[in-house]
Amino acid sequence: MRLTRAFLPTLKETPAEAQIVSHRLMLRAGLIRQTSAGIYAWLPAGWRVLQKVTQIVREEQNRAGAQEVLMPTIQSAELWRQSGRYEDYGKEMLRITDRHEREMLYGPTNEEMITDIFRSYATSYRDLPRNLYHIQWKFRDEVRPRFGVMRGREFLMKDGYSFDLTKEASEHSYRQMFLAYLRTFQRLGLKAVPMRADTGPIGGKLSHEFIILAETGESTVFYDTKFDEFDWAGTEVGYDDVEALNSFFEQVTSMYAATDEMHDEAAWAAVPAASQREGKGIEVGHIFHFGTKYSEPMGLSVAGPDGNTVVPQMGSYGIGVSRLVAALIEANHDENGIKWPDAVAPWKLSILNLKVGDAACDALCEKLHAAFPDDAVYDDRGERAGVKFADADLMGMPWQAIVGPRGAAAGKVELKRRATGEREELSLEDALAKLRA
Ligand code: ATP
Ligand code: MG
Repeated sequence: MRLTRAFLPTLKETPAEAQIVSHRLMLRAGLIRQTSAGIYAWLPAGWRVLQKVTQIVREEQNRAGAQEVLMPTIQSAELWRQSGRYEDYGKEMLRITDRHEREMLYGPTNEEMITDIFRSYATSYRDLPRNLYHIQWKFRDEVRPRFGVMRGREFLMKDGYSFDLTKEASEHSYRQMFLAYLRTFQRLGLKAVPMRADTGPIGGKLSHEFIILAETGESTVFYDTKFDEFDWAGTEVGYDDVEALNSFFEQVTSMYAATDEMHDEAAWAAVPAASQREGKGIEVGHIFHFGTKYSEPMGLSVAGPDGNTVVPQMGSYGIGVSRLVAALIEANHDENGIKWPDAVAPWKLSILNLKVGDAACDALCEKLHAAFPDDAVYDDRGERAGVKFADADLMGMPWQAIVGPRGAAAGKVELKRRATGEREELSLEDALAKLRA
């Protein structure tokens, strides 16, 4: 991608409306553009990051045995009347009337729709367990949309739904997602602590929020520092091993972690003072077990193993995919810009040609660019070196290949690691080998 042809608009000035660092950097680095309050267009760099985050979420869902579907954004009010939530949901729901005066809505979540789809096919206990998810835009008419895509009105969510024959089986499904979430966030390089959560309007008993600790978070959290040492990616628990998964779940949830809504002073007092941490956090995921809250009123039932009628037990599992992009920036930046982790960077490499028109510089840059045709941004603009350095740091690709006339004459490239600032002068071959490693 040549900067002279790319649509990667960066801003020098800090936009006045952005109050938190991730929002400022997303606007300055040209990742998003607000089109209405709380509604954003994703520009090329932002869209690439969003797709990478989406893909990691998808792979971990698939690994845990969930299957992907795609449900529409527009739903009929009729379905929500069946669950009784149409009147309850309030002003956050965007209600729409079509040309036939039919009441529709832009989905804030999909429990009703997935229950409707599943009840159309499931007839027997052999149709259980199943876990279906989709990654789709949601709309919630938030009272105060703010902080960019952190709290938007339109946002991308992964929402999954499990169906099981018994309560025990559905608790196992819940624990599968619990582990899948820990693995997903760890792959993204984020430490998300699962905190016992209030079940709110969706209802039910078992619920956890996954919270990333960050000063700009909107939730107040209390947790035991034992979490900081715990490595859940290292656990080799299999998704189908009921016993092992249960003891893993017990182990993790025995450590104290709660948001202020669920904070329990007595249990907190039992945590040694030196291990108590209080701070702010960003909710990036939320899982619920809610039994028959939707299956019962919506008439989902199957024939059980002995011919009796069984109402399946359900759970729902959300991840704020677009919010994660902002959370990743909150966790990976410095005063100059974004420091993308390798796993989600829009491009792996920025190539900085410090003297466009110099034959050696141009030739070296072309070779680097040709080596990463879809994974490099080549700054071939006729700008000053200072402008190029500033833009490369702002956009935050994990590697920068800096090519100046003196080095190029000797066939050398300076390779800079954005995250650490480490620099090394290398031959083209060595630089390519390092970038490919
Ligand atoms: P919050 O408490 O932040 O308003 P929520 O509890 O209403 O979120 P859920 O219904 O649990 O949200 O949705 C699942 C996930 O979707 C949340 O954990 C969060 O990461 C994300 N999410 C929810 N609302 C928004 C929003 N307005 N903008 C961006 N992401 C959101
Ligand atoms: Mg929530």
